[in-house]
Amino acid sequence: MDTAKATALYARASAGFDARVENARRLLARAADAHPNGVVQASSLGAEDLVLTDLIARDRLPIAIATLDTGMLHGETLALVESIRERYGLFVERYRPVHEAVVAFVGRNGDAAMKKSVELRRACCALRKVEPLGRMLAGRSAWITGLRREQSNDRADVAFESVDEHARAKLSPLADWSWSDVWYYLLVNDVPYNALHDRFYPSIGCAPCTRAIALGEDFRAGRWWWEQDGAKECGLHVAAAPASSLRALAP
Ligand code: SF4
Repeated sequence: MDTAKATALYARASAGFDARVENARRLLARAADAHPNGVVQASSLGAEDLVLTDLIARDRLPIAIATLDTGMLHGETLALVESIRERYGLFVERYRPVHEAVVAFVGRNGDAAMKKSVELRRACCALRKVEPLGRMLAGRSAWITGLRREQSNDRADVAFESVDEHARAKLSPLADWSWSDVWYYLLVNDVPYNALHDRFYPSIGCAPCTRAIALGEDFRAGRWWWEQDGAKECGLHVAAAPASSLRALAP
């Protein structure tokens, strides 16, 4: 299998990098202040989320770290749970799908249901991601995501601060970061990252739904590659309200 250090391939600070780091730190600190014990980083364990975990750890912010353990993740992804514990002493909460619901879904539709139709793929994401996310966020008033505007056309308008459909504050402190900024941060701060990134997987989800990309392919070309671009979201990030309605984080 071809490998190349992702840090060597991508890491470059673009103009304004230091200001973007400070802005992300400020947003995280404000969220922690405004939502004591009620804010969680919903981490995919991808490159962006490791930046956020490092920032949270660096400033010792009271923000919980949690991930969706869909039952279909690569071993390389799950290994980061231990890497985070070793590096930062932080426990990563793992939210799994309801076992009986998964057994029933697979029994009805087969192991490869997600490739039979967009509807079945979304049903699998609803079962393995959206429902467990609801449990992760229950009782919490704010969450942190690693969304960036550059990731796809659908994410071009991602706000730093918004409100989700349950009136929770939703923050994306890296909204204006570039892919090369993310990798520059990981490099200079020696942050652990998913070994799959060194095998040309820029965007990593569940194993059956993620592949390596080829030179020149789009960033998210390796996710649900058998579907049209417009369908490529899993339902975790539905449209949010404008930041102006984010009363909890208003200065
Ligand atoms: S990414 Fe694939 S395996 Fe994972 S929940 Fe969605 S459809 Fe299922």
